[in-house]
Amino acid sequence: MPYPDERASRIGHVQTALSPAILEAMERWNTPALEVGDPSHVTDRVTSLEEIQKDQRPDPTFAIAFDGSNQEVEARPGYPSVRVGYVQIAGVYVDIPRFLNANRSGLVDARELERAQITQTVNSVLPGSNVFLKGITGRDTWRAEFDRSFVESEIDDFGDPFSLTDALMTIHGGPGSPASSLTLSKCPTCKAPNQTVTALGGTCAAPSCLTKLYATDVMRGYEEFTDDGENLLTLTRAMNMAERLLLVSYIDGFYREESRNLSQGIFITDGPLAVYGPAAPMKSQFLEYWSQLCAALETRNIAPPLLVGIEKSGRFVDHARAIQSHIPNGHVMMLDTPYVNQYVVNQELDHYYGRDEFYGRRFIYKTSTGEVLVVTVPRVPGGRPYEKPQRDGNGGFIPVPSEQYASYPTLRATLEVLDRMQTRLYPNAVIPIALAHSASSLPLGTGRSVLTLLAQKGLKMPQDSIGLSQFKPPRYGHRGR
Ligand SMILES: [Zn+2]
Repeated sequence: MPYPDERASRIGHVQTALSPAILEAMERWNTPALEVGDPSHVTDRVTSLEEIQKDQRPDPTFAIAFDGSNQEVEARPGYPSVRVGYVQIAGVYVDIPRFLNANRSGLVDARELERAQITQTVNSVLPGSNVFLKGITGRDTWRAEFDRSFVESEIDDFGDPFSLTDALMTIHGGPGSPASSLTLSKCPTCKAPNQTVTALGGTCAAPSCLTKLYATDVMRGYEEFTDDGENLLTLTRAMNMAERLLLVSYIDGFYREESRNLSQGIFITDGPLAVYGPAAPMKSQFLEYWSQLCAALETRNIAPPLLVGIEKSGRFVDHARAIQSHIPNGHVMMLDTPYVNQYVVNQELDHYYGRDEFYGRRFIYKTSTGEVLVVTVPRVPGGRPYEKPQRDGNGGFIPVPSEQYASYPTLRATLEVLDRMQTRLYPNAVIPIALAHSASSLPLGTGRSVLTLLAQKGLKMPQDSIGLSQFKPPRYGHRGR
């Protein structure tokens, strides 16, 4: 996803924005405040990181961050309606002690940083409008190719190849045990409910239909596919799911191989821990997987991994910037739901924000050097990160469990390590995500060889200190056509 300053220049739209019709309409409309008058609604909600309970865990020794980029291109010159989507996801492994060594002064030693990281990418091509497999519609072509991209994108860092489809089955099963089948709420063609599919697919049970079904239909990406025009939204949703399932692939790999290593890792995803659009019901599977993981680790007395989403843009990032002068350095802000409703999303105070999409809760953190981060962190040992606001009968609200720091025992350790991994090079960002971002943004075609070279150079991992004798660098396989 782009950084905020990568958006199209607003200067180019000044002439339009000055048009009398727009100025007149803006008089009628309310927009988010850029300045905060009385800041008590902010200052009442901030807490020093020092005051937040910290769970027992070893210091993080590695970070794995994911980011993706996508674009839709006109596949044939002169025929702009023939479109093809391209997705590239990068994962970056960062050796934290080594990284901190490279970042000691706040100015990165680029060579040392390169030695501290391993980068790889996975990429997929998906059909857009006016692209067909023989004999089937554009939409069914998209479904077939999306499924193929999930089956073919695999990692082999933990022994047997593990594909994005395996990860999808795993969040429908549990840690280390992928489900043997999953249920589609409906057939994409005839809408007959509750269709069972395996990782290999299936067939609609309705005798009059018999449509070929895919496990990836469970994400319902095809619902937003259009035969005519752009499919950038569909592509973005597909990319976000792939990013999040790739992260699950790594967490589950560590879990299967040596679960104790999980508690030494921080897993960072670009964007919030949330699933939007037709795939939103998937958030329940991520929640379920996470709570099963926490429970399984707890029985072995292992702290859960640090899992965090970081947002680079959007209304919460804009809001964080608007209020940041009222948050002291090293403080975290609890965004209770009535606050979100009133100050960020313009809803009724008891609106149930976040019900459908989230598997982590948002916090604003101002780092020790004054940058702001908007993060989402999951509850431990699980549970909904957002609940319906409960009125207390006196015009206020009862703090529900999801709005108490005790529900987020990984929060402090997460923010502490993010704080140590920021750098003056990348304001309001942390290095692993910035590295993943630049890796995922490499142009089509050049990525593979450059990154293979990088990976081959950077393999001196501190195996003794983190005990990953079997660990190989992230290497995303993508078998060519
Ligand atoms: Zn059907």
